[in-house]
Amino acid sequence: MDLIIKNARPVTAADTPVDIALAAGKIAAIGPNLIGGAATYDAGGRLVCAGLVETHIHLDKSRIIDRCPLPEGRRVNPVTTVAPLKPAMTVEDIYTRAETTLRECLVNGTTRMRTQVEIDPAMGLRGFEAIRALADAYKWAIDIEPCVFPQDGLTNYPGTEELLVDALKAGAPVLGAAPRYDSDPTAQVDRIFALAREHDVDLDLHLDVGDSTEHMDVRRVLELTEQYKLGGRVVVGHMAKLSLMPPAESAAMARRLADAGIAVTVLPATDLYLMGRDRDHDVRRGVADVNHLHAHGVTCSLSSNNILNPATPYGDCSLIRIANLHANILQVVGAQRLRELFLMLSEHSARLLNLKDYGLAVGKPADIVIIDATTPEQAVAEIRPPLAVWKRGQRTVTRQPPELHTPA
Ligand SMILES: [Zn+2]
Repeated sequence: MDLIIKNARPVTAADTPVDIALAAGKIAAIGPNLIGGAATYDAGGRLVCAGLVETHIHLDKSRIIDRCPLPEGRRVNPVTTVAPLKPAMTVEDIYTRAETTLRECLVNGTTRMRTQVEIDPAMGLRGFEAIRALADAYKWAIDIEPCVFPQDGLTNYPGTEELLVDALKAGAPVLGAAPRYDSDPTAQVDRIFALAREHDVDLDLHLDVGDSTEHMDVRRVLELTEQYKLGGRVVVGHMAKLSLMPPAESAAMARRLADAGIAVTVLPATDLYLMGRDRDHDVRRGVADVNHLHAHGVTCSLSSNNILNPATPYGDCSLIRIANLHANILQVVGAQRLRELFLMLSEHSARLLNLKDYGLAVGKPADIVIIDATTPEQAVAEIRPPLAVWKRGQRTVTRQPPELHTPA
């Protein structure tokens, strides 16, 4: 044994504290009163999970809010705001901003990540190159999987598809989409599915943000997922329009998604900021209800999406804060539902990303996060911080709780 973590409460069984033994980068044993370690860490009865999982974050365009003009009026379009900035983004610029954001993710307990990387003739493959270099430089602390996608349109932007194919040939494991910003959204979805089949990669598409449910791209995604039997390999992000549907209608849609094997990532910070822009009062919240989706069998995650850019001007890379934000927006109450939200930052997110080697179990990689709480519901309700993180058995993060200097 290299280390025994004493007295920690697993998120899925927080009533019973256990010891966790780490050896050669893996979890070697879990149980009461383990002995034989060269060193010990006393978790003091705190919560433990196998790392937080960020399933959707744009590292490449984080931290550019100070380069963007302020929006005029209620309507905002983050894509046309960012587009003019792209030609000036060098690999070094992207790397530096992405690294700052990544380091914030690490100290907030994230040990696995899927990051969306935009590719088009204005950006070229510079974002992809920067993120691959960053993933390599930080593999001691996190596993990063890039999802390449066209942000500014595919069918209306000649040269984009060729660059996407170059990235797929260079090993990009996941392909994304943003049909809302294409002059022909359905044609983009069709083309992206065709490319995914050709290159045998998973799909993770931005879908259905907007003011009405009249047109929903998810309907085409459902057809193609079923037609090509891609269940379990398709994720749709946002799905903000689900929040515009009455419960019976959104429940029917949730069951269709579950049956088709399509998972959903909800991005509360962005959708709260972007939705309801057609109104100047009585502004709707516009965030899909993950507990409702989960209740109908959909695999769901909660994620950050953007940090300090025109789609999401705020953020500190704390996934636990995102779950807390979601609980506030959706008026979530009760320990059980808060616990579900925590699992949508961890266990369920790992399932959504098809991570086979994730979990607090013997033989899995020793990715361990100790959180300053005794239950997952407390962590979400109080935005409790991680105090210690190990990646494959190596300590990567230490955070001290603040101290109050009471007069003697
Ligand atoms: Zn996104």
